[in-house]
Amino acid sequence: MSCYDLPGLLPIDQALERMLDQLTPVEQVEDLAITAAVGRITAEPVRARVNLPVFDNSAMDGYGLRHQDAATGKPLPVQARILAGQSLNTPLQPGHCVRIMTGAPLPVGCDTVVMQEHAQDSDQGVAFDPLPEPGANVRLNGTDLKQGDVVLPAGHRIRPIDVALLISVGLVDVTVHRRVRIAVFASGDELQAAGTTLAPGQIYDSNRPGLHALLDRLGVEVLDLGVIPDEPQALRQAFSTANETSDLVISSGGVSVGEADFTRDILAEEGDIEFWKLAIKPGKPLAFGRLSKAWFVGLPGNPVSTLVTFHLIAVPAIRRLMGMTHRPLAQLAAISQDALHKSPGRMDFQRGHWAVKDGTVQVRCTGSGQGSHQLSSLTDANCYIALEQERGPVLAGEAVTLWLFDDVLA
Ligand code: AMP
Ligand code: MG
Repeated sequence: MSCYDLPGLLPIDQALERMLDQLTPVEQVEDLAITAAVGRITAEPVRARVNLPVFDNSAMDGYGLRHQDAATGKPLPVQARILAGQSLNTPLQPGHCVRIMTGAPLPVGCDTVVMQEHAQDSDQGVAFDPLPEPGANVRLNGTDLKQGDVVLPAGHRIRPIDVALLISVGLVDVTVHRRVRIAVFASGDELQAAGTTLAPGQIYDSNRPGLHALLDRLGVEVLDLGVIPDEPQALRQAFSTANETSDLVISSGGVSVGEADFTRDILAEEGDIEFWKLAIKPGKPLAFGRLSKAWFVGLPGNPVSTLVTFHLIAVPAIRRLMGMTHRPLAQLAAISQDALHKSPGRMDFQRGHWAVKDGTVQVRCTGSGQGSHQLSSLTDANCYIALEQERGPVLAGEAVTLWLFDDVLA
């Protein structure tokens, strides 16, 4: 059902639920070398090819022994010396010890390692004081991971810190979803490229480069279609190109109810569109739906609204297409140091900066103001101050809930 005609405003959680219900991850996958797969999303669970540790080995530079042969202060003759990368073909002889270094394999029969700081060398051999517990300083085969264990689930974004793990369990490449292709454009007759001289009434198109940079950070392929004038035929052409070349089209501007706002009508012509008046501030008008081949998210044009709705609504959609599971932003309870303007009816995502002061989480409002055109409120912030839909004004000292910025905005 289209909610174009629904009375009232749609809460953000319902909008997200409807959107995520419809979207499915891109189906094509590819095998990439592990270092080339950083930032990509696993398409299936990744399993260990070998045990970790691969063999029983020493956790210390010291002496390996059979614990039942040892006693505090009793010297044991040294049978052999084993460095990392070497291995001893013969078992540990009864009543002997081996000199062994960190990472070297334990010989058969050796079950304990004594650190060299607790060893005393003499003509009779090496004596140990104190003697540790049986099994001390030994890293046993398979105690971290076993062959076949899932090391990364499907839908996981591969991070630099995952690389070492994947390599250590014997993997060479990993199966990931193909990159999602996203077309982006801005619409508005007033919009000019950075670096041009502005005529009266013109402004710089800041939304599109801003969105482009955010999309790059998400690791998608970006098709930048530039600025489209407020003309139905030009918009039709932009949607048609975007539909042919991308999985998702993101636009800024023109989704409101002004006389030059054609986006919604053209979308309704070309596709199956839900238009939402969201119960959030900033960012009330938003279009979501499907063209014949690509999905579509139409963001409002006011710069703060564009970026906030991109973060709160478009990013979950993009992550779903990428094959990731939806992770809501982390929340934190805080005390507001400022009085905050708020009227009941919409959920506010005011921009704030939180810090721990005197042992409590405190938040201040950012920017010269919280208007949907005041970008400094966003660039100075590290969280949203998420004020509930029915809440009224907030007094300084009242408790508020923060939604913390994640790596998308960081
Ligand atoms: P609209 O959503 O098209 O009604 O635009 C709302 C406000 O955002 C207007 O003040 C526009 O000039 C401004 N705006 C729209 N698109 C952009 C853009 N790409 N960059 C900067 N400001 C924009
Ligand atoms: Mg406009």
